[in-house]
Amino acid sequence: MRRFLVLTFFLLMFAGVVTVSAKTVQERRAERLLRLHAAASSQSSDTSSSTVAPLSSSSALRADPHPGMGAATSSVGVPAVDRKDIRFKIPILVYHHIRPYGGWAKSSWSTRLSVSPKNFDKQMQWIVDHDYTTINLDTYVKIRNGEIPGPVKPVVITFDDGNLNSFTEGLPVLEKHRLTATWYIIPQRFGARDFISKDQVKELAAKGMDIQSHTLNHLLLTRLPQNELDWELREGKRVLEELVGKPVLHLAYPATTHNAFVRQRTVAAGYATATLMDPRIASEKDDLIILPRIMMEDGTRLEKWLP
Ligand SMILES: [Zn+2]
Repeated sequence: MRRFLVLTFFLLMFAGVVTVSAKTVQERRAERLLRLHAAASSQSSDTSSSTVAPLSSSSALRADPHPGMGAATSSVGVPAVDRKDIRFKIPILVYHHIRPYGGWAKSSWSTRLSVSPKNFDKQMQWIVDHDYTTINLDTYVKIRNGEIPGPVKPVVITFDDGNLNSFTEGLPVLEKHRLTATWYIIPQRFGARDFISKDQVKELAAKGMDIQSHTLNHLLLTRLPQNELDWELREGKRVLEELVGKPVLHLAYPATTHNAFVRQRTVAAGYATATLMDPRIASEKDDLIILPRIMMEDGTRLEKWLP
């Protein structure tokens, strides 16, 4: 009996060590992603990085009780559709910068998050040539819930971070091809160099583009205490709703970071979907509050992702 107790004790200790180290690795990865992401976002501007809010406040260093980045389907969010007849497979693409190659290291995030205007044009041409129809996320949810049939070949195009070049270089290409996209905006960056302004957000909305939330400050959400987390989710949403005069129901997690608590607060804040970077196409089995998106790079071949 004593031997058994000793063995159990060591097993529990071992499990604890594994959990703690997994958490640390995960947190470190998320932090690195957020920093690299922020660095890449401010690459074309010396001043813009100063406008990005700090990684987190000291209170945000609270231990993470629900490590869940990349976790399987959670129980929060809109329940999965229980209809065998639905064949739901709509790709969601994510772009960050539409800008020419700036001489960065090939494997750097600055390179990976950038698509040249020329190749963006080619990718959009491919979408048109292959009869895809761009839809917004409200339509995505309706199709997924079986409320409307949707087009034969739907696709969602999204832009993260509200980089100015997505407006100056990306928008004209979309207009040329008569396509629409969703912009995930960070309101706290209004007025900063190299980011989309309030007036430009209004212009996007007036042109039929979809304006959605990338939180107020683009902080690492898993590190925030509940009051700060709720503020990021709700205030980011409210500011955009006031600006465009429409409900903002869709979120992109900053740096793809989330956990069960963040997902639960996201639903509580009134979001219908939340997206991350995860290179696959969601099916009807995926939770709407962790929808995967395919990160588009300069050399991404759409035929690999869009059948
Ligand atoms: Zn971002």
